[in-house]
Amino acid sequence: MKQHILKQIVGKGKKKYPQKPCKVCSSKKNRSETRYMCQFRQVPLHKGECFTKYHTSKKY
Ligand SMILES: [Zn+2]
Ligand SMILES: [Zn+2]
Repeated sequence: MKQHILKQIVGKGKKKYPQKPCKVCSSKKNRSETRYMCQFRQVPLHKGECFTKYHTSKKY
């Protein structure tokens, strides 16, 4: 069974650690990139607050 775990995004090409816009931050019109994502949903999220917010809010 898969779990919601924050892991580092690993690129396949030359970029070893690609960054993606955080889902929580971008919903607040805040363009901020993260190197981490939820491995269950493949959703880019910041470590800590954004990760918790995403999984506790029904909005997402
Ligand atoms: Zn998750
Ligand atoms: Zn964020």
